[in-house]
Amino acid sequence: MIDLNSLTITSARKKLDAREFSAVDLAQAYLNEIKKKNGELNAYLEIYDDVLEQAKTADDLIAQGKSYPLLGIPLAIKDVILVRGKKVTASSKILENYFASYDATVIEKLKKQGAIFLGRTNIDEFAMGGSTENSAFGVTKNPHDTRRVAGGSSGGSIVAVASNLALGALGSDTGGSVREPAAFCGIVGMKPTYGRVSRSGLIAMGSSLDCIGPATKTVEDAEIIYNTIRGSDILDSTTISEETYPKPPLKKELIIGVPWDLVNGEGIDREVKENFAQTIKKFKTFGFNIKDISFKNLDMALAVYYIIMPAEASTNLSRFDGMRYGLHKDGKNLLEDYMLTRGLDFGKEVRRRILLGTYVLSVGYYDAYYGRAQIIRNMLKKEFTEAFKNVDLIATPTAPSVAWKIGEKSNPLSAYLADIFTITANIVGVPAISLPSGFIEVEGKKLPLGIQFMASHGAENLLFEAGKKFEALNN
Ligand code: GLN
Repeated sequence: MIDLNSLTITSARKKLDAREFSAVDLAQAYLNEIKKKNGELNAYLEIYDDVLEQAKTADDLIAQGKSYPLLGIPLAIKDVILVRGKKVTASSKILENYFASYDATVIEKLKKQGAIFLGRTNIDEFAMGGSTENSAFGVTKNPHDTRRVAGGSSGGSIVAVASNLALGALGSDTGGSVREPAAFCGIVGMKPTYGRVSRSGLIAMGSSLDCIGPATKTVEDAEIIYNTIRGSDILDSTTISEETYPKPPLKKELIIGVPWDLVNGEGIDREVKENFAQTIKKFKTFGFNIKDISFKNLDMALAVYYIIMPAEASTNLSRFDGMRYGLHKDGKNLLEDYMLTRGLDFGKEVRRRILLGTYVLSVGYYDAYYGRAQIIRNMLKKEFTEAFKNVDLIATPTAPSVAWKIGEKSNPLSAYLADIFTITANIVGVPAISLPSGFIEVEGKKLPLGIQFMASHGAENLLFEAGKKFEALNN
């Protein structure tokens, strides 16, 4: 029996190389666990039918003496990332029967290393949400309390890792979709610098914000996946070269800036504030230097995000017209075909964002909303560049609360407010990571919380450094 609970990518690699178990044994162990738990959790929408074949190929390579970091490692893939020949739906009815005709660049890179893809995981439809409640295929449940949400939009990927249904996973993060569910489920979730990882083959939400990132049990594992998927790509003109943002040198004493006025602001749960303050204290005892910082425009970040994101999303989603992809409804004429297809096959939240995005881009409102949001986005970018002259990392809680109860946030605005800490990294384009920061007890259940760190463009190494040090000293 393989003990999946204590297994990490790093330890599995050693055991595979030492022939303690084969890639087929490992894949089979995950398939068994998925069979047991997925019915209740709804992390996966589909388990691929060729998992054991993939594992067999990995075993052949291991037998030839090959050893790549992810060779034979079973991963879960968010249902917005294209795997050639496999279904990909963005958890939307409109793409219910859509099959990918090519591999996303990240998938191509993982395939080259012989990683195993277990299946496709549930999300908020088109990645719009923070709870996976907006999926057309049912909600994903939080393994720590199944009455609660997993977070989102990459809820399925995160739950897969948190419940031993995969060793690692890929999610996408447009405003926190890897980090927030990671915090809600007690694992590590990371968003790279914008442009560091190719978006080719990622179903687009907000193109200037979208980033593919890893979800794992440990920081070291996140670093392994990140190092595999990173790199400039001719298929995505927004990717950047290594030289654009060179890695900063590692320092002995990293300086963490804390925007206390934001953290102690309204709408943040008391337990979150307490857990955060305690965690910051721990970092201090672990040899980090803590500094107070403040930003002039940070309180506008959420508003900026909820203008720019729907503007870009409404534009990106115009391609789903029922003609080229997915479902098609017949009306009396072409216009009616469009209206019926888009009206019936997009869910409520997606339609809301299309309306919002179309509105802020429309003549007469463009300058007042979209134009102004871009101006503030630039101001925030400048403020962050300034801040990173004085600090190496910026820390906040990952989310203002623990995972909420399924159905509790029926008002969309209350769900949007949960993104308060995560959206800034996407607006500014900097990398960020969420680390588990302990549990609080709610109604007899221990619910996880997360701490988020942001670093300057290209400084992922500082996030990993701080994360690994915290993991080592905190245990
Ligand atoms: N919760 C945020 C939203 O609903 C973030 C989503 C994401 O990162 N894909 O927009």
